[in-house]
Amino acid sequence: MAVQQGVAVRAVARVNLTAIERNVARMRHELGAGAALCAVVKADGYGHGAVAAARAALDGGASWLGVAAAQEAAALRAAQIHAPILVMGALSAQELDVALGADADVIAWDERFVAAVAARGGGCVHVKLDTGMGRLGTRDSAAATRVAIAATATEGVVLAGAMTHFATADERGDAFFGQQLERFESWALPLKAQHPSLILHAANSAAALRDPAAHFDMVRAGVAIYGLDPFLEDPAARDLEPALELRSYVAAVKPIAPGQSAGYGRRFVARQPTHTATIPIGYGDGVRRALTNNGEVLVRGSRRPLVGTVSMDNVTVDVGTPAAAAVGDAAVLIGAQGEQRITAEEVAQRLGTINYEVTCALLPRVPRVYHRDGKPA
Ligand SMILES: *Cc1c(COP(=O)(O)O)cnc(C)c1O
Repeated sequence: MAVQQGVAVRAVARVNLTAIERNVARMRHELGAGAALCAVVKADGYGHGAVAAARAALDGGASWLGVAAAQEAAALRAAQIHAPILVMGALSAQELDVALGADADVIAWDERFVAAVAARGGGCVHVKLDTGMGRLGTRDSAAATRVAIAATATEGVVLAGAMTHFATADERGDAFFGQQLERFESWALPLKAQHPSLILHAANSAAALRDPAAHFDMVRAGVAIYGLDPFLEDPAARDLEPALELRSYVAAVKPIAPGQSAGYGRRFVARQPTHTATIPIGYGDGVRRALTNNGEVLVRGSRRPLVGTVSMDNVTVDVGTPAAAAVGDAAVLIGAQGEQRITAEEVAQRLGTINYEVTCALLPRVPRVYHRDGKPA
């Protein structure tokens, strides 16, 4: 069997840290002078690696980091990252200890939670008004104000911020976004007038790109800093640069005669003589099985259809002639090769999901290899 030259691993996610830096700088430019950027690195940096993404985002001009879970904040601190961290998710008592122990700010919408923060040594809280997302926060603006007052009145607790989260920022022309914005403004602006140091924040990536009125003092941008488009369109159209490439290589090429099949369940049976290339990446790496007979892979700069069932460790593609692929050729599942480009948005469309889920789905078996515009990081 031929041994591959220059192919380090069977499947790899190459992440361009400089692209993350540029995406952050591009988002900051969008914000003008006023608002800070909180780079959201939850879920292992949307699959890109939280610590590396956090460092790149800070280098690119982010001043805060956002996570969902207390443990994610602790992991950033363990990597010697000292920037302010906001834990945006719900916290159990034990998790609150971990978050405060990591010196992270936490979200409050209940006076008892403020008391719990004080009882656990104190910390900074951001009060959350639920203006329409319907998940965390209180829908009652008077109750939210009471939580803010409780925070200022409680020894050891600092009222640091007031926030909300949009449900439809990525749906262009949707009127609900404006209603949420109005609800937030009518609660948060008077509160800020009384507490001028409050950090008001509401926007995710989509809201930040959609409406400057949603920027306030800080924007919480996740998906855009990875160069993924929050509207599921081509990221290049908004000057966003995908940071992640998912690559594997051609491990075998062989002829397949009419009537012969590839993969479990014989979901692909050749109708005419052709050649398949076997690529050692599968759903055990995060390449979703729903791409069965429904995907493309770049080999030698051409799009080749994924044929047959995606298995745990392999996929097969139809390359046509034996001259079209050789063992050791690079295979790109997300990323560019020659003139061709497969985006996470395209994969998401095929799967009926969003780009966020495509990169979050990448499993630990896929090593993340970092570089800076092609040079080793
Ligand atoms: C995940 C998250 C964000 C970031 O959203 P993007 O769409 O990735 O920019 C912002 N705010 C909250 C509360 C979140 O949970």
